Amino acid sequence: MKNLFNKLRGVERDAVQKPVEGEAPFYLPQGNEVEVFKAAYAKRLPVMLKGPTGCGKTRFLEHMAHVLDRPLVTVSCHEDLTSSDLVGRFLLEGEETVWQDGPLTRAVKEGAICYLDEIVEARTDTTVVIHPLTDHRRQLPIDKKSQIIDAHEDFMLVISYNPGYQTVLKDLKPSTKQRFVGLQFDYPKEDIERQIVKTESGGLDDALVDKLVAAGRKARGLKDHGLEEATSTRALCYAAELMNAGLSPMDACRAALIHPITDDPELVEALEEIFRAHF
Ligand code: ADP
Repeated sequence: MKNLFNKLRGVERDAVQKPVEGEAPFYLPQGNEVEVFKAAYAKRLPVMLKGPTGCGKTRFLEHMAHVLDRPLVTVSCHEDLTSSDLVGRFLLEGEETVWQDGPLTRAVKEGAICYLDEIVEARTDTTVVIHPLTDHRRQLPIDKKSQIIDAHEDFMLVISYNPGYQTVLKDLKPSTKQRFVGLQFDYPKEDIERQIVKTESGGLDDALVDKLVAAGRKARGLKDHGLEEATSTRALCYAAELMNAGLSPMDACRAALIHPITDDPELVEALEEIFRAHF
């Protein structure tokens, strides 16, 4: 019953990744983001990762959490997410009410990196809760318990923000944005994207990687012609993995790069043409 309740309330949607022994998750830098992030962490400044979906923001953070040897608490924000989902709530257990910390509170106490992915999707009361964590106070107010807790010295707050998604009604306030160190991401340069696709696919043949990345970059150009989502690095990695699993290049492109991003027959045809010209 409690599990069901938690599920419905979204409590289980967050994930805690403890630092693991061994190599950091593979991440190929696009610029100086590793240095900037390390400097921000040294000063415990909150960071905002900006950029389109599937360009490597989450992977970057997984990599950095490993490098800095911090646990990573990830919360995928959605439109029903409230400040209680982040901070915690009283739950009924038998006859008793017990307090359960939310993911943000756990990260604040344990000294983890807390990643609020697409924070702008969440209810606006969530930004109120994070404000005192983003300045010199480094405090989390827990209104329901009339408590204010000081953040662990290793705690760090990171949010992601996709500038393409915002509308007039849904955007972060400038006063919230300017509390963060901003790191701008975009799809990687061609040679870097090739190396990423090669590695993520588990070593797809170089000639296929080159064609796939070249075609993907062409397809990305259709973003300005009606495609809502541009062809992401993630989608290119999926296509490469499917090819490596034995699918024909065109079938892999259809499955990973065409069907997931459009239902419009004209756009499907335009994308087909681009991929056919390469394979
Ligand atoms: P985002 O968080 O921006 O939506 P992700 O970090 O989930 O994107 O990236 C999607 C996938 O693309 C990753 O799982 C990884 O396979 C690949 N990827 C993208 N950029 C990089 C990079 N710079 N280095 C390594 N892998 C990358």
